Amino acid sequence: ERRQLNRLRREPSRTTDGVDIKLYANAESREDVAEAHALGAAGVGLYRTEFLFLQRNELPTEEEQFRAYRDVVLGMTGRTVTIRTLDLGADKADRTGLALRNEPNPALGLRGVRLSLARPHLLDDQLRALLRASGYGPLRVLVPMVSTRGEMLSVRHRMQRIAGELRAQGHEIADHVPLGAMIEVPAAAIALPGFINDVDFLSIGTNDLIQYLLAADRNNEALGDLYTPLHPAVLRLMRDVIRLAHSRKRPIAVCGEIAGDARFAPLLLALGLEEFSLHPATLLEVRRRIRECDLSALRARAPALLRARDRNAIVRWLDNHAVV
Ligand code: PEP
Ligand code: MG
Repeated sequence: ERRQLNRLRREPSRTTDGVDIKLYANAESREDVAEAHALGAAGVGLYRTEFLFLQRNELPTEEEQFRAYRDVVLGMTGRTVTIRTLDLGADKADRTGLALRNEPNPALGLRGVRLSLARPHLLDDQLRALLRASGYGPLRVLVPMVSTRGEMLSVRHRMQRIAGELRAQGHEIADHVPLGAMIEVPAAAIALPGFINDVDFLSIGTNDLIQYLLAADRNNEALGDLYTPLHPAVLRLMRDVIRLAHSRKRPIAVCGEIAGDARFAPLLLALGLEEFSLHPATLLEVRRRIRECDLSALRARAPALLRARDRNAIVRWLDNHAVV
């Protein structure tokens, strides 16, 4: 079984009707990056930078961040690396004193881009480190927890100003560093037509999107089946976001846990998805599943999927189309 999977290391993630699906890796360590590279990932689709800030008492310096980001870029040898700006909040136990403590509702509080914009010097350090790393290979910057157009404009303005300063100081940085938004707050998904011009790419964070859309805590086991991607509202919203992104030629991936669950690959393909970002440990299983799928047949069955009225109907759709 493992050996069979390992044979897929050198194979493309290609559907039976010949469409190449991009499998990017979610990574948060050197080991993840090395594994992603060895498995033939298209790049890194989500590098979570929280890990540089957790389990320590002081903030990482610009220099330390620069070296970490540069090493990811170098480790992927020319494949695209997507680094997410800090997604800290009261939900994650940091000891640096950065995030607020005791927020009544951490998931709805000062976290992600909200925290970054509330601590602009910190954001600027991170952007400087990221832009300097862009001189070493293709790098994109991804912003978490976006809920308004203004947040993207603020980050872009800061990035442009810092790029100018770095060039004036003689740093070699990329001519263009794409700036993208995580789509994980329902308001951002719904308001996307109003700010898609202001982003270069998108990544759907289903872990949080499902939590906020269904008002169901992603970590509360008492909720049982309520926290699930198999809800008509989740499928419809993802379909709309993917369709809009494609019509405006913005690359779009899903980087939540569902992208790494091979059972859901046919469903995501039916919704139009062509880029997945997943943990390296799940990459080969998802690749194998994709290689069994007929993309045009799945897309032809998308209307039936979107007509499903409840979880059971969606599960039936998945069972019926287990192998197309
Ligand atoms: C998500 O919300 O789907 C996501 C990928 O980010 P995180 O799990 O870090 O919140
Ligand atoms: Mg998230």
